[in-house]
Amino acid sequence: MKKYIYSFGNKKTKKILNARNILGGKGANLAEMSRLSLPVPPGFTISTSMCKIFFDNKKKLTPKFCKEIKKELNKIESQTNKKFGNTKNPLLVSVRSGSRVSMPGMMDTILNLGLNDETVDALAKKTSNERFAKDSYRRLIQMYGNVVLGIESHLFEELIDNYKLTKGVLLDTELDAKDWDGLIKNFKNLIFEKTKKNFPQHVEEQLFGAIEAVFLSWESKRAKTYRKLNQIPGDWGTAVNVQCMVFGNMGEDCATGVGFTRNPSTGENKFFGEYLINAQGEDVVAGSRTPRYITKQNRSSKKDSMEEIMPKVFKELKNIFIKLEKHYRDMQDIEFTVENKKLWMLQTRNGKRTAKAAIKIAVDMVKEKLISKKEAILRIDANTLDTLLHPSLDEKQVKKIIAKGLPASPGAASGKVVFTADEAEKMSNQKEDTILVRVETSPEDIHGMHAAKGILTARGGMTSHAAVVARGMGRPCVSGSGEINIDYESKEFRAGDLVIKEGDIITIDGGTGRVIQGLVPTVKPDISGYFSTIMKWADEFRKLKIRTNSETPQDTKMARNFGAEGIGLCRTEHMFFDDERILSVRQMILSRDLDDRRIALDKLLPFQKNDFKEIFKIMKGLPVTVRLLDPPLHEFLPKTDKDMEEVARSLNLGVKEIKNRVSELHEQNPMLGHRGCRLGISFPEIYEMQCRAIFTALIECKKEKLQSVVPEIMIPLVSTEDELGILRKLVNKVAAEIQKEYKIKINYYVGTMIELPRAALRAATISKYADFFSFGTNDLTQTTFGISRDDSGKFLNDYLEHKIFDGDPFVSIDKDGVGELVKIAAQRGKKHNKKLKLGICGEHGGDPRSIEFCSKAGLNYVSCSPFRVPIAKLAAAQAELRK
Ligand code: PEP
Ligand code: MG
Repeated sequence: MKKYIYSFGNKKTKKILNARNILGGKGANLAEMSRLSLPVPPGFTISTSMCKIFFDNKKKLTPKFCKEIKKELNKIESQTNKKFGNTKNPLLVSVRSGSRVSMPGMMDTILNLGLNDETVDALAKKTSNERFAKDSYRRLIQMYGNVVLGIESHLFEELIDNYKLTKGVLLDTELDAKDWDGLIKNFKNLIFEKTKKNFPQHVEEQLFGAIEAVFLSWESKRAKTYRKLNQIPGDWGTAVNVQCMVFGNMGEDCATGVGFTRNPSTGENKFFGEYLINAQGEDVVAGSRTPRYITKQNRSSKKDSMEEIMPKVFKELKNIFIKLEKHYRDMQDIEFTVENKKLWMLQTRNGKRTAKAAIKIAVDMVKEKLISKKEAILRIDANTLDTLLHPSLDEKQVKKIIAKGLPASPGAASGKVVFTADEAEKMSNQKEDTILVRVETSPEDIHGMHAAKGILTARGGMTSHAAVVARGMGRPCVSGSGEINIDYESKEFRAGDLVIKEGDIITIDGGTGRVIQGLVPTVKPDISGYFSTIMKWADEFRKLKIRTNSETPQDTKMARNFGAEGIGLCRTEHMFFDDERILSVRQMILSRDLDDRRIALDKLLPFQKNDFKEIFKIMKGLPVTVRLLDPPLHEFLPKTDKDMEEVARSLNLGVKEIKNRVSELHEQNPMLGHRGCRLGISFPEIYEMQCRAIFTALIECKKEKLQSVVPEIMIPLVSTEDELGILRKLVNKVAAEIQKEYKIKINYYVGTMIELPRAALRAATISKYADFFSFGTNDLTQTTFGISRDDSGKFLNDYLEHKIFDGDPFVSIDKDGVGELVKIAAQRGKKHNKKLKLGICGEHGGDPRSIEFCSKAGLNYVSCSPFRVPIAKLAAAQAELRK
């Protein structure tokens, strides 16, 4: 039989190839820690391939496989001298998920399996700690009830809260064995009431139920959402780890905690972590008790750190931290438990970190000679750089701080207060910015955390669910703000005397933990220091040039600041919408004859010329691709009566005539209508005016002795060689006229966008007239799939759900179809025109996966929006290093 189970927990643990794929991250690292002789409780991992078998087998474990599990369990029994279900010395196990890449909190875990009405007494006797045994049992019933039997966890929490209320106590730790006994009864009743079945007393039934539930959690809504957000394939499956329990909740010499070998928020090279005395793992991450720090804090703080309270264990832990970081050569995120002063390691993995921390850690580790520059570049998730490039709070404008919490995930965000994840999602669909305010978050909130601009919680530490998930998503987060008091019922929270209601605007600063009333303006980011070091290293490795899509001086300057090496797409139509110009644009479109049209175009010419001049000045000799008018003319038409009247007056025509003309210009299918080069063919005078503006701007720059750019004039939406042939002639004609007029020679290129499948297939002939091709993958995706780029949102989720798409093809290039067309066009174009330059200017030009594709396809540059320039630089370096 193929091997599906692998044991761990001692030095002899076997090393296997592709451990992560087979055992999942958690299983692979438990095995690795065992081989490093670290104290790991014994256990076994059920491989990820069993997950698929499980789903194929109608979501049931086969009897044969259950037998195998029992055999493995026997091995743990003999290593620990305990027996599963034994009424004298019972073995308890945990069942935990673990996929190839960490999906924190997205799948399920069940602890304390093996307890029932009899073994609980044995555990009490054995440990002489009845309270602990009963507490462990109620935790099992609660977790099992929730995870395996699907009973909402708050129903159990409510039973505890009610119980505490009647007893007049505040904390769980104030409840004794008798109290837990009472609660066990209540929990069991709840289970019976909801499922019409008793909580299983048979320990094997518990174990198999738990394993099945963990497999099932791979397909839970939150796991699917997380996979979608992080582009994790659905067929990977999760592994299941079954491990002997150790207890952090057996008394004051017990503890449990999580730690990072470096600060995951700032990247500072200092251990960072939190722990709780007399508690079980989930207490730390759930945020139900606010944990203490592992390391000593400043002098004024309470002396309650692990370093001060459990110095011996702390020392051992510190050595393990060092050993693990050296071994994995990366920052580690570690879970541990202390059982009666003995330290046990439960997990290690490469720690999630903010973009800021990722950059600092990578640069520091190169300096420490732990990793190479290449590794440093490959370590950083290019997409996350985005969070560093956005503005932070303008301190001069911070007026009213209403509360403080922990700086859990950096960045500033303002938005309307919402109290549920669903509301955050709903408002986000209506393009409203929100701050999700929760007492604490749970994995069910993931969609709302993604939809919100920022997250604020009243409870929970730096390693709480909210903090970890927010950091992973790059959302600003302030956690554990004990100064706010949330009332879900009345949809408001109090901060001191102030009441903030749903819909009120607040600002949070995840870098300092401040909560501020109202909207606070922001200032530009600092991209020096560690960030610029990484960019410099990326420049050393990358071959692809990075340009930007920009048409305003403001964006162009910003892109230059970020290191853009040219403009790959200047959409000239954006220059038409300006208030001062729109009337002339409308006159141009609505005029009945050429003469009138020329009058309107003459008015537009100086505006366009000045825009180009401004951009040429900023780009100081770098290439600038100017695309001639592309969108259907009706996009510029007047819509309101007032606008209609204004145009009618200016053209000396009646409003009725204008209205008729507007309806004549209406198109059923404008994206496939009178747009792109078709406009240039029908109304050559428009393109002539634009070329004139480009060339005169160039000549004026020359006269002013400014560094000269060589403009690349780009014709959109070409599908035949003749379209390009005719329009290239037009450009040449205008250039010749201007050179003659000013007696100055000008250099320029003419090229085309490849954004229609026919153009890609006919690239060989089209390239005769082109100095360059720029792939317009937005339209190319739209026309290859026949999916409207503006309406795909309506069914995209269904396509992802049915695994027809593994991601949005408008975000990451469809390599098999659209990509194939890009490759064909590149090859055929180059074959017939060796000097042909190749680039991409669709949105995909700023997407790391698509950039890797462009690099392999032999493109010369990618062009993306200004904020994505650094992302593209890093992704281009990574693509080169992965080749
Ligand atoms: C494209 O289609 O990819 C493109 C860059 O042009 P636009 O988005 O302006 O249609
Ligand atoms: Mg296009």
